[in-house]
Amino acid sequence: MSKKTSKILLITTIALFATMVVLLVTIGPWAKKEDSGKRRTEWKQSTKATTTTEEETENDSTSEITEPASTPSEETTSEEETSATTTTEETTTEEETTTESVEETTTEETEETTTEIPETTQNIPSGAYDLSGMVVCIDPGHQRHANDDTESLAPWSDEQKAKVSSGTSGVSTGRPEHEVNLEIGLMMRDYLESMGAKVVMTRDTADVDISNIERANVAVECNADVFLRLHCDSAESSEVRGIGVFVCSRGELADQQERWGDMLGESLAESTGSRYRGCSASTTYSGLNWATSVPSFLLEMGYMSNPEDDELLSDPDYQKKICEGIANFCYKMKKEGV
Ligand SMILES: [Zn+2]
Repeated sequence: MSKKTSKILLITTIALFATMVVLLVTIGPWAKKEDSGKRRTEWKQSTKATTTTEEETENDSTSEITEPASTPSEETTSEEETSATTTTEETTTEEETTTESVEETTTEETEETTTEIPETTQNIPSGAYDLSGMVVCIDPGHQRHANDDTESLAPWSDEQKAKVSSGTSGVSTGRPEHEVNLEIGLMMRDYLESMGAKVVMTRDTADVDISNIERANVAVECNADVFLRLHCDSAESSEVRGIGVFVCSRGELADQQERWGDMLGESLAESTGSRYRGCSASTTYSGLNWATSVPSFLLEMGYMSNPEDDELLSDPDYQKKICEGIANFCYKMKKEGV
């Protein structure tokens, strides 16, 4: 073969090879691959756009629609981003909640230091006063049958007095006082307990025989923060109505008893809308004279000789107002820190 022929053959071979390469690039399998790559790029761009929307709307369901199966790494990244964002937001919300509760605590502390007391007790929800740590002794006055046997009026006196008198009865309702006192006393027990107070009852039924000294002893033995003797009053005139408070004028707490008595009467007048007639200090009541070591009060909640008072004292809504006033008073006594 001559040199010239060899050269022509080489050039022809190169030309054929080049043609094949051009054909392959234009219409062969490489062309498809390039096309697929182009589509993937387009999908990537659309995924980016979708992810942005998800982050803005926090809608998890949209991510399922747009994800093709070919790019698991992209999916994982997208989910991680979404979950990371959600977690951060949740944490932030929790932190905000924590901040709120801290603020509440701060408010409570401020109230305690400034001894601020809610002025209106009407329509307060149950549990509005924190009475935890308090011991309240409630003595619903009288019992079904009076006991005319006598006992000592006071530790410092030889004078004798009936163990338990019979009490009055309602001019309109006809109900005996011992029954109304117990009804309100039991409601008061539940009400104060719902606010965290420990309540000790001298009786929870009408059929008992407990003298006034024995009732006082119950309050002394539990070292009550408040000893409340619940009664309803009676007067010759049916016009007389309102709230009265009686305290003992002797004993270690005598200096403060009248002021506390006014606190009790005013709290009750505020919650019930009834008139507070004042606090009287004396040594008339054996149930107070034998309990001078604890803050003790004989509360006349209203006059059963007055038709309006009598009806109200048996009205559950009014009874609840009495309980609210007592809760308010107990809260004030808690702040006194006796
Ligand atoms: Zn009475």
